[in-house]
Amino acid sequence: MTAKALDSLHAAKRIVVKIGSALVAENGRARQEWLNSLAADITARRSAGQDVILVSSGAIALGRGQLGPDRPRKLEEKQAAAALGQPLLMAAISIAFAAQNAPVAQALLTLEDTENRRRWLNARATLDTLLGAGAVPVINENDSVATDEIRYGDNDRLAARVAQMVGADALILLSDVDGLYTADPRTDEEARHIAVVEELTAAHDDMAGDINHAANVGSGGMATKLAAARIAQAAGCMTVITLGTQLSPVAALLGGGRATWVLPSMSPEKAREVWLRGHLTPEGTVFVDAGAVTALRGGASLLPVGVTRIEGQFVRGAAVAIKDDTGNLVGKGVTAYGSEDAARIAGLQSDAVEAELGYRGRPALVHRNDLILDS
Ligand code: GLU
Repeated sequence: MTAKALDSLHAAKRIVVKIGSALVAENGRARQEWLNSLAADITARRSAGQDVILVSSGAIALGRGQLGPDRPRKLEEKQAAAALGQPLLMAAISIAFAAQNAPVAQALLTLEDTENRRRWLNARATLDTLLGAGAVPVINENDSVATDEIRYGDNDRLAARVAQMVGADALILLSDVDGLYTADPRTDEEARHIAVVEELTAAHDDMAGDINHAANVGSGGMATKLAAARIAQAAGCMTVITLGTQLSPVAALLGGGRATWVLPSMSPEKAREVWLRGHLTPEGTVFVDAGAVTALRGGASLLPVGVTRIEGQFVRGAAVAIKDDTGNLVGKGVTAYGSEDAARIAGLQSDAVEAELGYRGRPALVHRNDLILDS
């Protein structure tokens, strides 16, 4: 079973790698040699044709020394420490990737960004563009504007949301433990390592609770990792929880290193379809011509040129029904234009859209990834 999971990781098209504060920083300084080895690992994946997005914690750990001798406790102190530490974090990561000739790009997100469809469309398009341009996107929570208490472990969940957003097929959580155990291995001799989880149950949460309790500060512990794995599993993405403290941790994993593999229940494409079916309540209708219907059925995105008229009022990011000229439902999708702009560009060729709107919008009104067809 593990061998099969390892094969799927080798075959993954898109991988999100999350690194925790304890791996990135030690005594308030970046672990540069380790970061260098990680950058080499990620570059090797990219050379093998895999897209990699890095989610990195460590801003607070690197910035807090500059704030004063005391550990930041209040929310605003943590936010200030993160603001001080984020450039230090990116500097260390940039040095590591410069040695690989790979450009890095910073994207600071909040969890809400991954939950709000309108922002989500933009964030995903930006990440896709960065990957297409050969850059390594490096994501952290936008701690200085986050409105909730900043907790260690938040980035586990953020990484899972990012994996879901970009349709990743693998999420690697590099941690200070090599996976999930039946009990805390540090205190219980009977504790057994769990190699593969097909279905996450409450029993797994109970196991993780112990380890979470015993985990050092700086690690979100196992509970947040399982929460992340649940999000990923529902998105058709495999999660791998493995030890990341040693040099070249991704290469070690791919070489057969010990890990807990949480398997997805379906492919990312199928999961997206299920999600779209369950979540899209149309707020308006986009009527399309016969050519567009054929194109959509052939797997294309819905372009403005195929739109005949718009009904209802909706904002960008809303769900819309797509109907043919006789009113038959063709499908549903997430619109990249609000109803007013959509009406203005209905029937226009792509190059006329910018002239009409005065800005360059998305090429597709509904991207094929955000679309389900009625069969
Ligand atoms: N965003 C926080 C930081 O960069 C870390 C959150 C986490 O550890 O999950 O320090």
